[in-house]
Amino acid sequence: MRLSRALIPTLKETPAEAQIASHRLMLRAGLIQQEAAGIYAWLPAGLRVLNAIANIVRDEQAGIGAQEVLMPTIQSADLWRESGRYDAYGPEMLRLKDRHERDLLYGPTNEEVITDIYRHSVKSYRELPQMAYQIQWKFRDEIRPRFGVMRGREFLMKDGYSFDLDYAGAVRSYRRIMLSYMRTFQRLGVKAIPMLADTGPIGGDLSHEFIILAPTGESEVFYDAAFEEIDWSGASFDVDSDADLERFFQTITGHYAATDEKHDTAAYEALPEARRRTGRGIEVGHIFYFGTKYSKALNMTVAGRDGQKLHPEMGSYGIGVSRMVAAVIEASHDEAGIIWPDSIAPFRAAVLNLKNGDAACDAMAEDVYRRIGVRHALYDDRDERAGVKFADADLMGHPWQVVIGPRGAAAGRVELKRRRTGERVELTVEDALARIQESV
Ligand code: ATP
Ligand code: MG
Repeated sequence: MRLSRALIPTLKETPAEAQIASHRLMLRAGLIQQEAAGIYAWLPAGLRVLNAIANIVRDEQAGIGAQEVLMPTIQSADLWRESGRYDAYGPEMLRLKDRHERDLLYGPTNEEVITDIYRHSVKSYRELPQMAYQIQWKFRDEIRPRFGVMRGREFLMKDGYSFDLDYAGAVRSYRRIMLSYMRTFQRLGVKAIPMLADTGPIGGDLSHEFIILAPTGESEVFYDAAFEEIDWSGASFDVDSDADLERFFQTITGHYAATDEKHDTAAYEALPEARRRTGRGIEVGHIFYFGTKYSKALNMTVAGRDGQKLHPEMGSYGIGVSRMVAAVIEASHDEAGIIWPDSIAPFRAAVLNLKNGDAACDAMAEDVYRRIGVRHALYDDRDERAGVKFADADLMGHPWQVVIGPRGAAAGRVELKRRRTGERVELTVEDALARIQESV
């Protein structure tokens, strides 16, 4: 992408309405634009990040056999009357009427619709377990939308659902999801800690929130720093092995982590002091086992092994995809701007031409831009001072900056800057391209 033609409206001034770093930086880096309270348009650079996160989520869901579906945003009120939630949900639900005066709603979550889908198609224990998910916009008329996309009214959520024959199966599904989430967050470059959450009337220990530490988080959290060192990816845990899932869950529950609601001071203080971590946390995911609550209410049955009719055991599993964009920025920025992890950066590298119009600089910048790939590089070809280009590249947070000036162009060399460390090295074009390629 050429910056001179890009819809990336960067701002020098700090927008007055933004109270936290991620909101300020998302507006200043031209990622989003507010259209109404808690409702945002995603501009090209912001959408690239959102899509990159969604694709990592998809890949890890595929890794545990979860199937992607797409359910409607507009749902029938009748379905929610069946579950009893139409009246119970309260003012966060956006209620609509169509031209025939039929009640509709904009989905705040999808347990009813997914159960409706499965009750039509799955009839036998032989077809279980099943897992499906979608990445779809939700609307919740939050009383206090704030902090940009962190707490929006319209927001993008990955919501997944599992159907099992019995409790043991539901536990297995829950653990598989949990492992896939740890891997997802690791690939997103964030340290999300699973914390025991309230299970309400169902009880048990099968609800966890996944929390990223950041000073602007909404809840206070406490956890064992050993969590940060665990590698969830690769061969350490096989999602198809019950023994591995058990060892995985023991690893999770064997390390202290709790929000203030569930905090146990004695257990926390039993940790060696150096391993105690406390701070504010942002909830980026939440998983939940709820048994037959919806399968019973919506009368979904499958034939069991002996022909008896059973209500499947269900769970639901969310990741705040749009909130994640803000959460990553909260966890990864400095005074100059965003510092994107390689895995979700809108562009792998910015190419900064310090002397537009200079034949050697233009030729070299074009060449570097094309060789990184026009899909992956942002070429700053604007007629702007070097200082402006440096500042904007730092603000936008590209993992790499390839700086091209007249002296280097004459010698066939560029300056390569790593945004995260600030390290700058002078290299040949080939070496610079190789370094960028290695980090992908
Ligand atoms: P919160 O406690 O933050 O209000 P929640 O518990 O109501 O969230 P869930 O129903 O668990 O949310 O939704 C799953 C995920 O969706 C949450 O973990 C969060 O990351 C994200 N999410 C929920 N509400 C919002 C919102 N208003 N704006 C952006 N993301 C949200
Ligand atoms: Mg939640």
